[in-house]
Amino acid sequence: MSRIAYVDGVYRPHGAAAVHIEDRGYQFADGVYEVVAVRGGRLVDEGLHLVRLRRSLGELRIEGALDDAPLKLVLREVIRRNGVVNGIVYLQITRGIAPRDHGFPKAARPVMVVTARQSRPANPKLVEDGVPVVTIPDIRWQRCDIKTISLVANVLGKQQAREAGAYEAWMVDGEGRITEGTSTNAWIVTADNQIMTRAADAAILDGVTRQALIAVIRRGGYNFAERPFTVAEAKAAREAFLTSTTADLMPVTSIDGQPVANGAPGLLTQKLRAEYLAHVAESA
Ligand code: PMP
Repeated sequence: MSRIAYVDGVYRPHGAAAVHIEDRGYQFADGVYEVVAVRGGRLVDEGLHLVRLRRSLGELRIEGALDDAPLKLVLREVIRRNGVVNGIVYLQITRGIAPRDHGFPKAARPVMVVTARQSRPANPKLVEDGVPVVTIPDIRWQRCDIKTISLVANVLGKQQAREAGAYEAWMVDGEGRITEGTSTNAWIVTADNQIMTRAADAAILDGVTRQALIAVIRRGGYNFAERPFTVAEAKAAREAFLTSTTADLMPVTSIDGQPVANGAPGLLTQKLRAEYLAHVAESA
């Protein structure tokens, strides 16, 4: 099946799909995005993604994007036209097309692009063994709560992780506390079995996987705190893991080359992963 993309109201063959050279997304990264998982042809936690999308648009003061109802139709149509059963749908909305000038253009209207692709769930070998992460300074801006397409610091961080043979880089703020991964949220389980992740302040993106997992954790009555943890605390943790739409819940078994506990995925991590996947199946 050939791939189809939605670009500003039109469905086009993926290879021929293009945006204008003066799209503000292209010139200024002036836009927002979402990545939603598709399981069994259905969208996982779509409502949470749409709430976050509206918030991101609001924070950037981008007005005039499609409303939820037509937007949901486009997401479904792109999934259908691409025959995606299990995979992801990507959606991006920029401030639109206008002659290059930093301030908001008067006449532009938002441009939306939607693509979808089939993808396999997390590699079972990685889930079984866990993955290494490295820590790097967080060099991003002060509004990481907005899901903007301005991701160059994340790109550099992920590449640094890959070159170090790691799956992800955990970024560290000025106080030595971990903010998040370049495309994932960071979690630990402390020596006294408390599950911990940073509160959703402006230093991190409030992941939809994070939100859904917190709901699972609260329902399960686990010992849980939303508070930042330092690199030293992470290295002394009993368990560690990361979350995102594409990685779901992935055990972290080493940090900067140092094994987390005995270097094997933690039992609580595995239990939470199973409970999270049950939520995904239910949500879809
Ligand atoms: N943090 C960052 C910086 C991200 O890019 C992502 C993925 N978009 C996440 C966290 C995880 O978010 P989600 O669970 O919504 O995929």
